Amino acid sequence: MADGSSDSPSTECLSDPKDTPGNEGRSSEHENDAVAQDAESAGVADGDDPKTSKPKDPKKSKKRTAIICALAAVIIVVFLFSTHIICFHDWQDATCTEPETCSICGRTQGEPLGHAWSAATCTKPRTCKVCGATEGVALGHDPIGVTCTEDGTCSRCGATIKATGHRWTDATCTEPKTCLTCGATEGEPLGHTTSNGICERCGKEIYSTQSGSGDQVVSGISTGSDIYRVHFTNEGSSNFAVWAYDSTGSRDLLVNTIGGYDGRTLLLGTEPYSFEITSSGNWTYTIEPLGTTQQTSFSGSGDYVTDIFPATSGSWHFTHDGSSNFSVWVYTTDGRDLPVNTIGSYDGTKMLSIPSDSNAFFVITADGNWSIEPVS
Ligand SMILES: [Zn+2]
Ligand SMILES: [Zn+2]
Ligand SMILES: [Zn+2]
Ligand SMILES: [Zn+2]
Ligand SMILES: [Zn+2]
Repeated sequence: MADGSSDSPSTECLSDPKDTPGNEGRSSEHENDAVAQDAESAGVADGDDPKTSKPKDPKKSKKRTAIICALAAVIIVVFLFSTHIICFHDWQDATCTEPETCSICGRTQGEPLGHAWSAATCTKPRTCKVCGATEGVALGHDPIGVTCTEDGTCSRCGATIKATGHRWTDATCTEPKTCLTCGATEGEPLGHTTSNGICERCGKEIYSTQSGSGDQVVSGISTGSDIYRVHFTNEGSSNFAVWAYDSTGSRDLLVNTIGGYDGRTLLLGTEPYSFEITSSGNWTYTIEPLGTTQQTSFSGSGDYVTDIFPATSGSWHFTHDGSSNFSVWVYTTDGRDLPVNTIGSYDGTKMLSIPSDSNAFFVITADGNWSIEPVS
């Protein structure tokens, strides 16, 4: 059907209904009804004779109104429901922390139940029996009878509490490894370490000269792990004797003479030492580590301990011009030998047997001048 091919039907359809009799007019009357109604509601008289205007159908008007009202009602209801102004609540049970709550609109009623706490224990904090929530921290065990080395129990829950183990402090120059808790010790003190009289570990002055007068016992004398000699002097006129007691309880008579004394004796044992000094006057002592030297010939007066030197086996020449005991000990890695042990002056040669690679030192007891040298 071509557009506008027939003008007459559309003209007829739009023509004034009152001019169109019969069914045609009825059908078009419906279309123009709204226009008429608009004019009427606006209070505008259309100027037509009311008698000629077709009267409105009250039934149809009512139906339209009902539809509009129903639509409006539906819209309002949908609106109310969608905005949850109206809700058929779906109440969820209250929990420890939330009141009864609608799963649809989120509205709440009543109060949360609150937690049902069970008391804290050694290992668990205060805990809700319902939801498992916790508060605070576990009490921790209350150990009784636990020591460094023995298990104990918890006074509250009876659990076995493991021995704590010692809390060791490191050994020091003068104290062994010691437990801070129980005071137990392990091993030995490290001993001072020094090559110049000042301990390289603790700074203690080890080899300073000590002095005194008359009979005395000096205890707690520390040395390092080297080999030491003690230089004693005495000004008294009667007996001067020094016993050295070491930490194992063994003792060694370092000096035993009459009158003034100035000599060096070997200190052998396990530190710390105690010196028992018998004297009728003033005395001093100085502990010295043996030094090392390349020289092999030695001479001096009175008791002496040489430095450590590179010795070789062979003939050695010894002299002494004193009147009492003259003895020479030679110490090597093999132990010690006594090549000379005599009274009074001496001039002689002896064989020394010294292990290869061993150094040596001499300990001389003399009351006059002496000399020692290898025979080349
Ligand atoms: Zn709801
Ligand atoms: Zn709870
Ligand atoms: Zn416990
Ligand atoms: Zn301990
Ligand atoms: Zn030290």
